Amino acid sequence: MNEKATYIVMLGPPGAGKGTQAKILAEKLGLVHISTGDLFRENLSQETELGKLASSYMAKGELVPDDVTIAMVKERLSRPDCAKGAVMDGFPRTPAQAEAFEALLAEIGGKVDLVPFISVPNDVLVERLSGRWMSHAGRVYHALYNPPKVKWVDDVDGSPLYQRDDDKPETVLHRINVYYDQTSPLIDFYRQAGKLVEIDGTQEIEQVTEDLLKAVA
Ligand code: ADP
Ligand code: AMP
Repeated sequence: MNEKATYIVMLGPPGAGKGTQAKILAEKLGLVHISTGDLFRENLSQETELGKLASSYMAKGELVPDDVTIAMVKERLSRPDCAKGAVMDGFPRTPAQAEAFEALLAEIGGKVDLVPFISVPNDVLVERLSGRWMSHAGRVYHALYNPPKVKWVDDVDGSPLYQRDDDKPETVLHRINVYYDQTSPLIDFYRQAGKLVEIDGTQEIEQVTEDLLKAVA
């Protein structure tokens, strides 16, 4: 049991800025950043069984089944670097995952402390995802809004950037629909629990970070 562990759940549609902000927050707060999307992509690049299974869902913009995702998160949270807590990015994403997460945290004496809901309208999401450039280490850039120093090159390790297959316009629109169908019920779930704080995600990255830090304080 760790009394001091802090768990923050970043909620919002694909492209809202969850990953961008989760990285900054985790660093500033000394917490681990857990992105289930990054974990699946790592498995995919290492060609694990989990990666192969996940890729069939990810390519279509569908969610990976709950039991598989929950087991992966359970394993990740059991590692020693999570002792102080975590900033969750892309998990939970369904009501079943949210229930399982509550149970999982209860087992280790923790709870969800805060759920920043980053709201951004659909037209902005599409523009953000179509310009998103990723590094293999999971760093996130945008061609216009957060460009690397050199086009298509990671600022930190100089490796080439890539565009995610599921950031193609047709898949993006489907992912946004999946978000509204399966994930948006979590807004009420966490609002009723008194944990939701709405953040205007249309602002510049630095301003969103400032609002988040105020909410955490
Ligand atoms: P999510 O994790 O919610 O899918 P990301 O953090 O990957 O979203 O952000 C999606 C894209 O939008 C990235 O290219 C990122 O650089 C860009 N982005 C993130 N936040 C902002 C912002 N406040 N203004 C403009 N672009 C942003
Ligand atoms: P993301 O990087 O968060 O945009 O996630 C990319 C893809 O990974 C999603 O479209 C899903 O296919 C899969 N994925 C990530 N997180 C989850 C989750 N919590 N539950 C189910 N599938 C997920």
